[in-house]
Amino acid sequence: MQMNALREEIATIVPQMIEVRHHIHQHPELAYEEHATADLVSARLAEWGYAVHRGLGGTGVVGQLRHGSGTKSIGLRADMDALPIVEATGLPYASRHHGKMHACGHDGHTATLLAAAQHLAQTRRFDGTLNLIFQPAEEGGAGAKRMVEQGLFELFPCDAIFALHNAPGRPLGSLAFRSGAALASADSVTIVITGKGGHAAMPHFSRDPLVAGASLVMALQTIVSRNVNPLDTAVVTVGAFQSGVANNVIPASARLELSVRALSREVRLLLKKRIHALADAQARSFDCSAEVDWRDGYPVLVNTPDETAFAAQVAIELLGADKVEIDPPPVTGSEDFAFMLEHRPGCYLFLGNGDGEGSCMVHNPGYDFNDGAMETGAAFWSLLTERFLK
Ligand SMILES: [Zn+2]
Ligand SMILES: [Zn+2]
Repeated sequence: MQMNALREEIATIVPQMIEVRHHIHQHPELAYEEHATADLVSARLAEWGYAVHRGLGGTGVVGQLRHGSGTKSIGLRADMDALPIVEATGLPYASRHHGKMHACGHDGHTATLLAAAQHLAQTRRFDGTLNLIFQPAEEGGAGAKRMVEQGLFELFPCDAIFALHNAPGRPLGSLAFRSGAALASADSVTIVITGKGGHAAMPHFSRDPLVAGASLVMALQTIVSRNVNPLDTAVVTVGAFQSGVANNVIPASARLELSVRALSREVRLLLKKRIHALADAQARSFDCSAEVDWRDGYPVLVNTPDETAFAAQVAIELLGADKVEIDPPPVTGSEDFAFMLEHRPGCYLFLGNGDGEGSCMVHNPGYDFNDGAMETGAAFWSLLTERFLK
């Protein structure tokens, strides 16, 4: 199969799929509300001969297509949710739902995977099982986690899984692959220190949580500087510290809000352990007590080396080495495909959204997915499937 022929086949599908993308863009739906989007995805998949499973993770959709007698299976994921942003693009196909917007390009991810779905159903040059996973609630709602918890990989076994995200600023027609940790974990922590309030003139009758909190803020700085290996990456930010309202009153409590990020599971666990230990020890040394509320966000996203190398090789075959970046620096953002990668090997890769037009950053009211990227993304999904399910 010549690459040019595959790209020509994809090119005949892309124009109508750009229209589908614009339709989804006009009708954005927030996390776990992707009903119309899931209806659209399901109808198309069924039309092309996929077995469609709905309701996984609420509004999630899985389309399965078996061909031949091969026992191998692959999972390709797209996300479907929009963001609570008032769109300011002025585009003819701008959001018709005020306050909701596809500002992260998930409309593009969905339409790109649909383009590949149609192509793969028409050509069927693969031997095995293709699972197309359309997930809800990537933006903070952990839709991937919910699908996994509801049996995604038991119902639809996958030898490897892959997902892509558009990358503003990266050249159109390019792909990028990073082996190992590619995106950070992001956890939220609230620490409440409780003491005993009193009169500012008689501090010896009180147990001052404000002083304990101030000491804790400083002690927390030593986790990154003294506990984490200097060659590892970690962030412990105290973004809020609230205690007291008047100069002559010793408050009864203090409250700290932290953002905690890491690029490895080990460092993430170390941060958790040290934050708990310091909060407790610091509070007790001032005769106060501390309660730590740790809220797990998305885990570190770790791409497995073999699957990443395989996917990168397919990209080089499709696009040429000059259009494929290997091992760009990790990104400090987070992504819930990380939950799926905790259960199956695979790779999360980046699709260039353009460095001129298309370079507006995601989550900006002026952002739009670049339709020029769809052909590259869809051709990559198709070739990856053909090569993986040989
Ligand atoms: Zn986003
Ligand atoms: Zn996104």
